[in-house]
Amino acid sequence: GNFAAVKFAGRREVTFDDIGGQSFAIQELKEALDFIKNHQDIKRLGIRPLKGILLTGPPGTGKTLMAKAAACYTDAAFISSSGSEFIEMYAGVGAQRVRKLFQKARESALRAGKRNALIFIDEIEILGGKRGKTTSHLEYDQTLNQLLVEMDGLKVDDQVRILLVAATNRADMLDPALLRPGRFDRCVKVDLPDKEGRIEILKLHTRNKPLAGDVKLDLIAKETFGFSGAHLESLANEAAILAMREGCREISQRHFNESIDKVMMGGKLDKRPSE
Ligand code: ATP
Repeated sequence: GNFAAVKFAGRREVTFDDIGGQSFAIQELKEALDFIKNHQDIKRLGIRPLKGILLTGPPGTGKTLMAKAAACYTDAAFISSSGSEFIEMYAGVGAQRVRKLFQKARESALRAGKRNALIFIDEIEILGGKRGKTTSHLEYDQTLNQLLVEMDGLKVDDQVRILLVAATNRADMLDPALLRPGRFDRCVKVDLPDKEGRIEILKLHTRNKPLAGDVKLDLIAKETFGFSGAHLESLANEAAILAMREGCREISQRHFNESIDKVMMGGKLDKRPSE
């Protein structure tokens, strides 16, 4: 209703057009989402509904963006969480949080007048690591079990249809139970961008920046092998800061060149502490 409109005014939704260099991943994701949109036929034909999509790939490649764009594409309320939020010292707390997450998704959708909700779980490997191997603590099992119980309970004719999208860069660590049919049984790879992909991402992140005539995005893309989307976003930002510091009105190629080194030196842009 009106309240929701006011509340979300100004915060622009992420769409697939905001994601560069991932056309194959986007196509695969869209195919899965189109299938979900077709819920009347799914019900009529008795097809098992798609409940979970797993996005795999290195940090900073746009997995969170993809999940947000997927919510926009399916007109779903977006609820975000991270695997690390569910790990607790006290037995049962993690499981309780999983229950609350699903409850929150239903409530958010109803409040926004939407039939769909998309729950995004980043770093799913923390909550869904292989049982009994990577974890010794009982708590992990209860939390993971609760997630499986919630997923198994999702029905195509629920008042609010819930889709789970999870992200990981350690798909090998996931408990096989999570990957079984009816759980996260669709996997979309979100890899580092190639040169063309890097050009696309650089275009996106310089679209609101004044570029000097000498800037050659394809040259920058050539020099940034191995950069993720997050690296490239950071590069565009650093170049703009450098231009400002020098009192330039436009960002020139030199600002980019110098910033490439800086972003490289900065090392991993991974937000998580590396263990
Ligand atoms: P992590 O695994 O570390 O959570 P992620 O894969 O979820 O990373 P995002 O959080 O989606 O990555 O990306 C971080 C930021 O980097 C985005 O907000 C965006 O500015 C930029 N970015 C990353 N990938 C892309 C891309 N493919 N196109 C455009 N921008 C991107």
